[in-house]
Amino acid sequence: MMQVQNKFKKKSNTLKFALVGNPNSGKTTLFNQLTGSTQYVGNWPGVTVEKKEGKAKFLGQVITILDLPGIYSLSPYSPEEVITRNSLLNDPPDVIINVVDSTNIERNLYLTTQISEFGIPIVLALNMIDIFRKRGDVVLLEELEQKFGVFVIPISASKSEGLKELISRAIYVSKQKNNTAFKNFYEADIGQTIEKIEKIISQAKNEKFGSARWSAVKIFEDDPLALKSVKLNEAQASKIASLKNSIKTSRNVDRQIMVADQRYKYICNACSKAIKRKCALETETFSDKIDKILTHRILALPIFLLFIFVIFNATFGQFGNFFKEKVEWFVNNPFALLFSDILDKTGASVWTKSLVLDGIIKGVGVAACFLPQIIILFSLLSLLEDSGYMSRCAFIMDKLLRKMGLSGRSFVPMLMGFGCTVPAVMSTRTIECEKTKLATIFVIPFMSCSAKMIIYSLMVPVFFNDNQPLIIFSLYLIGIAVAVLSAIILKNTVSKDTSSSFIMELPPYRMPTFKSLFIHVWERVKDFLKRAGTVLAGCSVVVWFLRSFDFNLQMVQDSQSSILAGVATFIAPIFTPCGFGNWRASVALMAGLAAKESVVSTMAVLYGAGDSVKLSEAICAAFSKASAFSFMTFVLLYTPCIAAVSAIRREFHNPKWTALAVCYQLLIAWVVSIMVFLIGNLFF
Ligand code: GDP
Ligand code: MG
Repeated sequence: MMQVQNKFKKKSNTLKFALVGNPNSGKTTLFNQLTGSTQYVGNWPGVTVEKKEGKAKFLGQVITILDLPGIYSLSPYSPEEVITRNSLLNDPPDVIINVVDSTNIERNLYLTTQISEFGIPIVLALNMIDIFRKRGDVVLLEELEQKFGVFVIPISASKSEGLKELISRAIYVSKQKNNTAFKNFYEADIGQTIEKIEKIISQAKNEKFGSARWSAVKIFEDDPLALKSVKLNEAQASKIASLKNSIKTSRNVDRQIMVADQRYKYICNACSKAIKRKCALETETFSDKIDKILTHRILALPIFLLFIFVIFNATFGQFGNFFKEKVEWFVNNPFALLFSDILDKTGASVWTKSLVLDGIIKGVGVAACFLPQIIILFSLLSLLEDSGYMSRCAFIMDKLLRKMGLSGRSFVPMLMGFGCTVPAVMSTRTIECEKTKLATIFVIPFMSCSAKMIIYSLMVPVFFNDNQPLIIFSLYLIGIAVAVLSAIILKNTVSKDTSSSFIMELPPYRMPTFKSLFIHVWERVKDFLKRAGTVLAGCSVVVWFLRSFDFNLQMVQDSQSSILAGVATFIAPIFTPCGFGNWRASVALMAGLAAKESVVSTMAVLYGAGDSVKLSEAICAAFSKASAFSFMTFVLLYTPCIAAVSAIRREFHNPKWTALAVCYQLLIAWVVSIMVFLIGNLFF
């Protein structure tokens, strides 16, 4: 084993450990356990696109932990690889904690062979050891440690096992001198050639690329980035060229393939000695059995739709409504009464009372009633996601999406769009093909986000009491249909010839954990509460003010003569063909630009109706069945909130495109709701 000076060594007291490993190996789970934070964990590859930093404390020592995007190789070609590699180069950690999925160890170790050459000391966290042991498999740790020249610590990130030992080992390694030892993974002649190249390179200038060993391997592979970063003089270059050629003549394959092949051979050999499997690898696993049904050629799609329908039924049917009514009662009775009591006792003026009770509590309270449904919907979606089912869906959908100019890679971002457009748009960064990425961003806003759901939950029971889940389901379907249509239009106009291949491995089915379910749901709830406290409350106050005062700033009795009515009456006629040309509806839609929940809270303020019974009555009077459906369709399709638009602009890198997307959304919303209104009038 060769000892090489750690090129990246730096002097500082605080330690920094980076988590590096394949996608879905459990890095974020480990990160959350170590730092006590609640980052998004998902049972599909590509969940973590950005690096995340957190602090952990161990025996008084503060350690910075870095959660990096999952990668299969250190060559910076996919967006994840670029982020991870650049982070390792520009701000090298003291130790890399290489997270390896023990249930898929051969493939995971491929990355290990690369990072162990990179020049940063590593310890190997053999994760998911709980599943590994349950299978009855055994690992000879010493054998593995010896083969790869690193410490191997079996852990279970989700069960919090072995974490102390892992961290103390990592600290130990960080304190060692000469702690980056390279194993030779190559057969005699290749190994010797790489060593010779390494010697030459260690005398040359190397601009941020990695250790001399790593550069040597990469130069041996003719990696263009390596050739650019390592400054060779002519003599060195020709020496290396002749070294490379000596290998080329004896073997008949591309050198890059040759190196990969050598790594795999080494891994196979090592694992055959270090891992004792109870069953042979080839036997059909539990996951394979389930997959036979769930990804069946014909059954897959109906099963998917069935799952989604069940989820909708639970959320918007009796089960969800029961909880909604409970919260509603609480907000309107004990809660509002308490405030009105306090205001009476403190002798608040009429208009302060009106501001608090009619403005803030009505506006925010009405929206809050829908929290139980948000919780139910996202708990159920999270179960599907965490079990690994959603990754299958990406596969099922790939062929279909491809026909529309999207790809299987677009599926996860689109699905996230049902939660919130902002993270959904951000997650398109994992899409390598630029055109597919743009098309995906373009269609995400048509996926009905959780805030829009609140509007449906308010209006649907009023007009379509008998088949609520069905009507809401149909709204989601309209959104999806418009998305599909838009993608097809886009494909045939702007982004012709999209053909990025879709490579995503299927994670095994796993038992969802309560913790990750909690994180998913909390994410939505937190987001809602944050907005309720800021945008919703603010919007409600502004709307309350504009509808309570006239142009002379006199408080008005009838909001019909308020400032708001005056202004909105101008806009309202635009919506007459859609069936909701009244000024209150127009104001609600405008408020919806700040946050979609504001549509409901604004209506509550405008109709002066605190509890949803009164609000329902007011809405019942203001809309017909057809115009209510058309209104919901407009809400579904028109421009998402400001936060989403700015996320879209960030990813588009182009204001013109963003403006175009916004105009398109407005236009399509207008046209489709007119159509819905006309058709609705025939049927309802
Ligand atoms: P990442 O892509 O590497 O960040 O992986 P995640 O942290 O998102 O985890 C992927 C999946 O593996 C999630 O469903 C986790 O709940 C699950 N998981 C992570 N660690 C363990 C473990 O030690 N045991 C088991 N059984 N599951 C785990
Ligand atoms: Mg992750």
